[in-house]
Amino acid sequence: MSDADRRKQISVRGIAQVENVANIKKSFNRHLHFSLIKDRNVATPRDYYMALADTVRDHLVSRWIRTQQYYYEHDPKRVYYLSLEFYMGRTLTNTMLNLGMQATVDEALYQLGLNIEELEEIEEDAGLGNGGLGRLAACFLDSMATLGIPAYGYGLRYEYGIFKQLIRDGWQVEEPDDWLRFGNPWEKARPEYMLPVNFYGRVEKDSEGKAKWVDTHVVFAMPYDTPVPGFRNNVVNTLRLWSAKAENHFHLKFFNDGDYVQAVMDRNLTENITRVLYPNDNVFVGKELRLKQQYFLCAATLQDIIRRFKSSKYGVREIVRIDFDTFPEKVAIQLNDTHPSIGIPELIRLLIDVEGLTFDKAFDIAVKTFGYTNHTLLPEALERWPVSLLENLLPRHLEIIYQINAKFLDAVAAKYPGDFDRLRRMSIVEEADGMGEKRINMAHLSIVGSHAVNGVAALHSDLLVKTTFKDFAEFYTGKFQNKTNGITPRRWLMLCNPSLADLISEHIGEGWITDLSQLTKLKPLDTNAGFLDNLYRIKTDNKVRVAQFIKDEFNVDVDPNSLYDVHVKRLHEYKRQLLNALHIITLYNRIKADPAAKIVPRTVMFGGKAAPGYHMAKQIIKLINSVANVVNNDPVVGNKLKVVYLENYRVSMAEKITPAADLSEQISTAGTEASGTGNMKFMLNGALTIGTLDGANVEMAEEMGRENIFIFGMEVDDVQALEARGYNAQEFIGKNPELAQVIDQIESGFFTPDTPDIFRDLANNLKYTDRFLVCADYESYVKTQEEVSRVFQDRQKWVKMALHNIASSGKFSTDRTISEYATEIWGIQPNAIRLSAPYEGAGEPPAN
Ligand SMILES: *Cc1c(COP(=O)(O)O)cnc(C)c1O
Repeated sequence: MSDADRRKQISVRGIAQVENVANIKKSFNRHLHFSLIKDRNVATPRDYYMALADTVRDHLVSRWIRTQQYYYEHDPKRVYYLSLEFYMGRTLTNTMLNLGMQATVDEALYQLGLNIEELEEIEEDAGLGNGGLGRLAACFLDSMATLGIPAYGYGLRYEYGIFKQLIRDGWQVEEPDDWLRFGNPWEKARPEYMLPVNFYGRVEKDSEGKAKWVDTHVVFAMPYDTPVPGFRNNVVNTLRLWSAKAENHFHLKFFNDGDYVQAVMDRNLTENITRVLYPNDNVFVGKELRLKQQYFLCAATLQDIIRRFKSSKYGVREIVRIDFDTFPEKVAIQLNDTHPSIGIPELIRLLIDVEGLTFDKAFDIAVKTFGYTNHTLLPEALERWPVSLLENLLPRHLEIIYQINAKFLDAVAAKYPGDFDRLRRMSIVEEADGMGEKRINMAHLSIVGSHAVNGVAALHSDLLVKTTFKDFAEFYTGKFQNKTNGITPRRWLMLCNPSLADLISEHIGEGWITDLSQLTKLKPLDTNAGFLDNLYRIKTDNKVRVAQFIKDEFNVDVDPNSLYDVHVKRLHEYKRQLLNALHIITLYNRIKADPAAKIVPRTVMFGGKAAPGYHMAKQIIKLINSVANVVNNDPVVGNKLKVVYLENYRVSMAEKITPAADLSEQISTAGTEASGTGNMKFMLNGALTIGTLDGANVEMAEEMGRENIFIFGMEVDDVQALEARGYNAQEFIGKNPELAQVIDQIESGFFTPDTPDIFRDLANNLKYTDRFLVCADYESYVKTQEEVSRVFQDRQKWVKMALHNIASSGKFSTDRTISEYATEIWGIQPNAIRLSAPYEGAGEPPAN
């Protein structure tokens, strides 16, 4: 960044003051010396990154302590966000941004002769998530802190996050993500708060029928805390991640038998619980270790929550008997999908077996405490654990689940006497399947055990009530809600696109940063030629930067004047990357058929990981790379069409790519994408969307107007009608010669002449199954892409549309989403606390 740019970016980066710059330099040098034990002669770039991280972290400490002190003293209702995933990405830049110290740190490092952007690139992503669901949890933490909500994220500290994706010979290859190898400067281990978690064993009943879970295996949960700063409000909340530790007298039997070494080595087996994130997005794989992870999170977290409830000033006053009636007035627990839903029977178990409450009382408290967010309608993603697995691993919980189910089905039977089919459909316990396996339906358990159930976009919530959970919505009127997802504008505009953020602030002030609806103030600027020029210039600068990145990383030359057509998200059939690939092949065939025809040059970028066991998704990656190989090396094509696979797409790469996109691909089959959040990131950064009326695309189109988005394809009703009459892809292939040709090329090995058979499966799938109706939407998609190219040639029109996208994106801030959760589910008011800045002298801790 030039000096002029650095000075200009005031609102984003803050203002550097001489005294503060001197303090940062002093602190940095002190950390390099005392923490890294290095001097400038031998320090590596990673040492500098670590010294910088420590320096920035110091500025969180007093705020963190004071925020937690405030919560302790005022004892407000607390929110616990339970999630198996927190896809945090990098922390350094975000911390400097939220603390308003970027300009100061820039200047200090500049004076020290160091390049801050280079150091920022050294940080490993915290990749503790798969995609949208995990990133949502991370955006929620940012908004909860910014809104001053007394909130805690609870999750698992996976030693290995989402795998590193390599593309080798066009195929995806996975490598372990050893993100903690060099240490994590943002976490603080809290061994003093370690808690036991039990597994296996059996249930004993005493003479009064009181249950006792005995002969269990114990694993310890070690908490690691990460600070979560709000935006310039001095609030710092906590993300607490649990790590599995074997108990110290582990395998005493072996010690006594003398096999000491074996006993020590067996500790690894126990500690495997938090070794690795399961890399599946939107699909249920019923592995025992995964259920262990889920229970490990819930058991440790609920002990922590109850300990905090009891030790609150409120609890201390009531020393004689803790009154659990007030528990739901002090505690709200939100379940990020059913992944932590075993927490419902766990809370009930603790209230009955440990605290001595009756089942009815415990159940009532649980329902008032829990909220459940559903994230998908795809049947293969719904968690249904085999009863046999639960019986073995968590026998007491299985008993409680049966008890919940009996009480629930009694109530259903009372409301619908004689309707046995309804009872069967609604039961938490599913009858034996073809494999003779009875299963627990965790979504049903979550609905019954929560007071609020929500979908994540209006269309999705509507479909839940009308289809998947129809019976439940009829039974529990008022329990079902919608909470449309969002993204944090701090990371997804200020941090990733500072030039655009500053342009916006120059015109409408800085209020938008914490009140994104203010972006509507930009609308009148659609006749301001100077503003539109600036918008265009910023987009072009971002595109030039990405072209350089692609050259450096993948050695492909892309033209920054071409249309950047971007399809980045997890690789899944329902997201229809294959439809995009068919379009590319169509464009290629058209260029080859008429090389002299004028066409709008495009660079199509894909990025995204496939679950390692997902055969079809991996085939699609190979197809895209095979097509890229042909297209990019055909001299007839030249600069008219380029295809790039962005290897190892992740949060830090999303931050680079999003601001440079012209066109955002959001083309899932209508009714399959619950919300999407990638769509919102692109809209906020001035890309236009080509999309179906699916998920939050529907609400995006409403906000910006249909004239500012390229909507194509079937709607949910059309999909339902087509499926009802029986879908046959052949009908669509038969009447579209271009589609027939494309599928024929895939099938015959046109793009892989050395291995002509590799896409047989894929072609057959398209021709004879095509579950996600790619062939049915092909024609509409290709036509709409032609419209996209036409509009792109009219630069004025395009940039105006981009402006209307940005100006209409206010609804999609997680600040809005979280405010709705707070008032409509958690029963708390956002923005209720005020904290002042601590004194920050040169190094000495302030009096707390
Ligand atoms: C936002 C985000 C996602 C979610 O993208 P969708 O298009 O909504 O599926 C996935 N991965 C990463 C790295 C993201 O930042």
